[in-house]
Amino acid sequence: MPDVKLITFDLDNTLWDVDSVIRKAEKSLRAWLLEEVPEVVARYSPEAMIELRTALLRENPQWRHNLSLLREELLYQAIRQSGYGEREARQHAANAFAVFLDARHQVEFFAGALDALAELARDFVLGALTNGNADIGKLNLDRYFSFGYSAASVGVGKPAPDIFHAALRHANAGATETIHIGDHLVDDIHGANEVGIHTIWVNLKQEDLLEDSSAPTHTVHEVEQIPGAVQHIISAD
Ligand SMILES: [Mg+2]
Repeated sequence: MPDVKLITFDLDNTLWDVDSVIRKAEKSLRAWLLEEVPEVVARYSPEAMIELRTALLRENPQWRHNLSLLREELLYQAIRQSGYGEREARQHAANAFAVFLDARHQVEFFAGALDALAELARDFVLGALTNGNADIGKLNLDRYFSFGYSAASVGVGKPAPDIFHAALRHANAGATETIHIGDHLVDDIHGANEVGIHTIWVNLKQEDLLEDSSAPTHTVHEVEQIPGAVQHIISAD
C-alpha cells in the first residue's frame, strides 16, 4: 500500500477551462490597448500579433518557458514599433500586461474542484505545478496549496523532470509517495510517470490514450472523482 504524502496538481484545464479565460483576457487587453495606445491596434491585427509572437519565440526560444515574459516583451515590441519611445513603451507594456494578467485570473473552477482541494488538503501536502502563469496566490488557492512551481520559476516546463523533482525536494517526499494530477497526457502523465510518481489523468473530454504515451495510474472524467481516485491509488497493492 503506497504511503502517499504529496499530491501535485496541474492548474490550467485541470481545475478550470483555460481557453475561455485566455480568450476573455485577450479581449480585455485589446480593449485596453485601443483606449491607451490605439496606434498599436491600428498597426497590429490579432493575426499580426501572433506573427510577431512567433518571430520573438524564434529569436528567444527559451521564452516558451516564461509566458509572462514572452507576453510583456511582445507588447513592448508592438508598442515600440507603433512609434513610442523606449521608456514609454516599457511602461505601457507593463500596464497592458497587468490588465491581461488580472483578467487571466478570472477563472471559473470546474464543478467540485474547490471541494476536492479542500478535502485533499486535510490529509496531504498539495503543490501546484504549471507550465503557464496562473498564480495560486492571486487565485486564493494558497488556502489549499502549500507551494507552487512554474516552468518560469524552474527554467523548463513539464514534461521535463525538473519541476517534479523540485516538488519532491520541497515536500521531502519520494516519487512513490506522490501523486500528480493533470489533464495533459504528455506534460502531466508521461512527465510524472517518468519520475516514478503515481498519476491521475483528468480526462474531461473523454479522449483516448495516445498510442505511445505511458498510461496513468488512474483516470477520472469528472473533477469531483479526484478524491476517490486518490483513495483508489492509496488502497491499491
Ligand atoms: Mg493543463
